[in-house]
Amino acid sequence: MTFNDLHLITPILQALEQEGYTQPTPIQQQAIPAVLQGRDLLATAQTGTGKTAAFAIPILQLLHRQAIPAPRAIRALVLTPTRELASQVGDSFAAYGRYTGLKQLVVYGGVPYKMQTEALQAGIDILVATPGRLLDLLDQGFVDLKQVQLLVLDEADRMLDMGFLPDIRRVLQAIPEKRQTLFFSATMAPEVSKLAKKILTEPVSVEVTPVSSTAGTIRQELYYVKKANKTPLLLHLLQHKGIDRTLVFMRTKEGADKLAKELNAAGIAAEAIHADRAQRDRERVLESFKHSETRVLVATDVAARGIDVEDLSYVINYELPFEPETYVHRIGRTGRAGNMGTAVTFCGASETPLLIAIQNLTGKAIPVVDQHPYPLSAQDFIEAAESSSAKNSNKKSAGKGKRGRR
Ligand code: AMP
Repeated sequence: MTFNDLHLITPILQALEQEGYTQPTPIQQQAIPAVLQGRDLLATAQTGTGKTAAFAIPILQLLHRQAIPAPRAIRALVLTPTRELASQVGDSFAAYGRYTGLKQLVVYGGVPYKMQTEALQAGIDILVATPGRLLDLLDQGFVDLKQVQLLVLDEADRMLDMGFLPDIRRVLQAIPEKRQTLFFSATMAPEVSKLAKKILTEPVSVEVTPVSSTAGTIRQELYYVKKANKTPLLLHLLQHKGIDRTLVFMRTKEGADKLAKELNAAGIAAEAIHADRAQRDRERVLESFKHSETRVLVATDVAARGIDVEDLSYVINYELPFEPETYVHRIGRTGRAGNMGTAVTFCGASETPLLIAIQNLTGKAIPVVDQHPYPLSAQDFIEAAESSSAKNSNKKSAGKGKRGRR
């Protein structure tokens, strides 16, 4: 199938050709016709599937068909959980829409209001926003959403995880009820489906790569290693595995900062990216990683979500995530667009329950690499099992104590 078969207009086809896209991805093949027909959409798709173009292309086409209202009014609104994702979605609209004459703007927090408010006053057709800043601008009267016809919730699961539900509700109140809604989420946990049901009308459902599956282009490797040996092992792999640059995942901001410091002290150009860093810093760090000036980008899950770095051949899970779905998201940063990628996972003895949860979700055991300088001993596993059962029995007796006192 080609983009021509999707009956796209020439200005968009030209832009896609310029982008070097030859074929629509599976999510685009399913979503574009449905959206062009005016249907609501419920899409289960992760980053890397081409989901952004799956909504941006038909939105541009639908808006291009209409006369531009005078004065110009926001006719399409895209909500995203993070600034990075908002900015990437904005770049996509700019790229695919470059010959349509439509105007788009990205707004997010952490940057001065002036440029955003000036652009809003000049008039735009498409607004991409994170919920917090959008509500600020709405409250201050800089944004009018009464002519919105198309609403996209991108990475809806992430927005809910980040506590944006009340904000989403407020945005919904500010836009017309009669509209077309496109709902994108990597997972369909019960609360996500609940929101989807509430805001969609007879949606067309499309699904690609269910979250429990890991792409076949990603080689997975598991290293059992003590917590104290994780940094030495990382340094060893950086020296011996021909890793040009890599994204390393941490659970906490403090952990990310600490690891970046340790790597720099060992002579490896590393930067941490997380929610506490100013927007300017985050953008600079990302650019420097994209240009390979930074070899290791240490990221927390919230910050990493939406980071789109092409040709990333390695991701490393320094710590296992608490949610098994997060593992699938993390490793989906590599092995994109048909290229091979490797996802390396460090697992301490006490982290094995998290590993089991991941393997249960994906239905596959991650192949273990035991030839490395810092293997775990059987004693390490026994100690971890003993310490976890001691913790459990402490919890139980603490629980009993509380009930006894009531
Ligand atoms: P997304 O899932 O929207 O984050 O897109 C992942 C990557 O795929 C982005 O770098 C897009 O530029 C790229 N992409 C999207 N659609 C296509 C396509 N039809 N052909 C080639 N690359 C694409």
